[in-house]
Amino acid sequence: MGRAVFFDLDETLIEHTLSAAELVQQIQAAHAETLAGVPDAEFRAVLREKAAAIWGAMFEPTEPGVEPLVGAFRRTLEALGRDAGAARAMRDTFIELVLAGTRPHAGAKETLARLRAEGVATGIITNGYSYFQEMKIAHHGFAGLTDFVLVSEAAGAHKPDPKIFQIALERAGAVASEAWHVGDHLVNDIGGAERAGLAGVLYDPKGDRLPAADAALPEGARRPSFVIRELGDVLRFLGQPGFENTNSEPAC
Ligand SMILES: [Mg+2]
Repeated sequence: MGRAVFFDLDETLIEHTLSAAELVQQIQAAHAETLAGVPDAEFRAVLREKAAAIWGAMFEPTEPGVEPLVGAFRRTLEALGRDAGAARAMRDTFIELVLAGTRPHAGAKETLARLRAEGVATGIITNGYSYFQEMKIAHHGFAGLTDFVLVSEAAGAHKPDPKIFQIALERAGAVASEAWHVGDHLVNDIGGAERAGLAGVLYDPKGDRLPAADAALPEGARRPSFVIRELGDVLRFLGQPGFENTNSEPAC
């Protein structure tokens, strides 16, 4: 059993430059004819509701054979009384915008290569639909840079469920006490990893993701074992005395 470092994808290995609101605005602009007369706020609200519904049904798809994102746009258009035939084109626009609006974070690929050179097992643990997450991974050149990719749809569990971290440890041939998980989300990444016995490493490039020491944390969140400002910082402390995984949580 050796050491392992896992990484979250969105806002950790890759950075999103468009906000959710900007994405929706650009989809509206690209499909202005289909959506003519629909108030912006209504489109946003209905799309948010239909997208949340498909996320909730990920492990028991209600429309077998229908691509979930297409289904979300189709239901949105139906609810708005618009041509549902535009759903696939709208989904394509969404994917194009996301791919164009994301980029690898500084040092991401170099860090993965250096971990590999050090004999450390690496993996990506990401919440989402397999085809979409893997598309982002391939588009940004991360395919093959880690020992495995574990997407929550395929795992049957989303972070922070300890089950997905357990599957990752099995893939890496590692035990929790010798594993670190790097991510941006205090609940999904840090809370999940710490409860599974891994050391949660908060990637906080701007230093604004961790509430003050005396402030309450969101439900399900944990304080991270470590905080890093640059992805390459994991190499600085990995295996160094004083930086062991001292998480006392029993491994799941
Ligand atoms: Mg993230």
